Amino acid sequence: GIRSLMPEGCRLASGPGCPVCVTSNHDIDTVIALSRVPNVIITTFGDMTRVPGSTSSLLKEQAAGRDIRIVYSPLDALTVAKENPTRPVIFVGVGFETTTPLVAMAIKRAKAMGLANFSVYAAHKNMPGALDVLMGDPELKVNALILPGHVSTIIGMKPYQFLAEKYHIPGVITGFEPLDVLEGIAMIMRQLHEGRAEIENAYARGVMPEGNPVALAAIDEVFDTCTATWRGLGPIEGSGYRIRDEFADFDAMRVHEVEVEPTIEPKGCRCGDVLRGIMAPSECPLFRKVCTPENPVGPCMVSSEGSCAAYFRYY
Ligand code: SF4
Repeated sequence: GIRSLMPEGCRLASGPGCPVCVTSNHDIDTVIALSRVPNVIITTFGDMTRVPGSTSSLLKEQAAGRDIRIVYSPLDALTVAKENPTRPVIFVGVGFETTTPLVAMAIKRAKAMGLANFSVYAAHKNMPGALDVLMGDPELKVNALILPGHVSTIIGMKPYQFLAEKYHIPGVITGFEPLDVLEGIAMIMRQLHEGRAEIENAYARGVMPEGNPVALAAIDEVFDTCTATWRGLGPIEGSGYRIRDEFADFDAMRVHEVEVEPTIEPKGCRCGDVLRGIMAPSECPLFRKVCTPENPVGPCMVSSEGSCAAYFRYY
């Protein structure tokens, strides 16, 4: 309901903040292909099972008899691997800097334990690269950014500095409670009113300026950055994470060879435009009519963090 409180001239738009939503169809198709490897167990977060790929989803594959298990942490996937030593266990790693350190820790632990049947499909992404592309998009007229609280607990404030310096756009790291969001918006409005463009922190109880150095070191030890393809934004250099050669034995794509079907985007779905913030979910012709949380056409309607699912529930 916060949107309804905004004064005239202030419009809140959603961006690419939901990790499941920004995962490309090709990544989902690849995971589906991996689920068809004989004897394999796929472990993943719940939302991922419902995201439609080009012609299937993990939920459909599960119904067809594939072994797909929902876990709440990558470390749970290690337990599954330990309990099933004769079967390959793949963890589907999606998410931003918030979940990437946990996956890094799981890979390090698997190596220390000598768990030869465990691997990760790494589709992790980092946020600043996407923000750079978005801010450079001439179609997108954004005056300020509410910056993601959880990601910032890991990366801190410095990686956003370019927004102020290169684009002269204020950015405020904001928490998740209603008052947090209102405070973040108020701080943004104050900056705009005073003609300032700075990176500020409205979530100081969760975010240290330097972030979490231990988590950052774990990411850096296990992952290298690479080009990642984002739904709606396309390929962005340096915005993804690939598993370093030292941990290649835990990289599902180097352990298993799979053929991935050609990508087909969901017909009529405007997730890409919603993720770029140029269109509200309610403007999508399929919203509520064809696309609902029970029958999602695109990923933004699947995850509870997705803009379309949030609009469906609250607008
Ligand atoms: Fe895609 Fe459904 Fe959202 Fe439309 S309402 S953009 S079809 S997820």
